Amino acid sequence: MAYKVTKEDAEWRKELTPEQYRVLRQQATERPFTGKYVHNKESGVYTCAACGNPLFSSDTKFESGTGWPSFWDVIEQGHVDVKRDFSHGMIREEVVCGNCGSHLGHVFNDGPRDTTGLRYCINSVSLNFEKK
Ligand code: FE
Repeated sequence: MAYKVTKEDAEWRKELTPEQYRVLRQQATERPFTGKYVHNKESGVYTCAACGNPLFSSDTKFESGTGWPSFWDVIEQGHVDVKRDFSHGMIREEVVCGNCGSHLGHVFNDGPRDTTGLRYCINSVSLNFEKK
């Protein structure tokens, strides 16, 4: 998969904080209920912490009770990519930034049933928030 933004590993390591690097570039997961956007209810747009690409709108954010920011849709088709992830003995759908390929989280099919039914479970560390 070719992304518009591609950087050497050393560049990412330099630009990102150690925690951002572990999550965005090494697929780590932040501990639940520790992220800064878990309970954020302000209106605005969540962007990729690595490249600034708009990813999710506050309009589709919901309280999932999981301890991670959860959304039932992406802001626009193509802004987010989904890849199959076989790590940790599970088959999951990994969510990555469509612009730079950085790891954001996973998507599950137990989202609110009156919406898309999806739950994009995203690390706060992978996001920045632009208030409207
Ligand atoms: Fe990105």
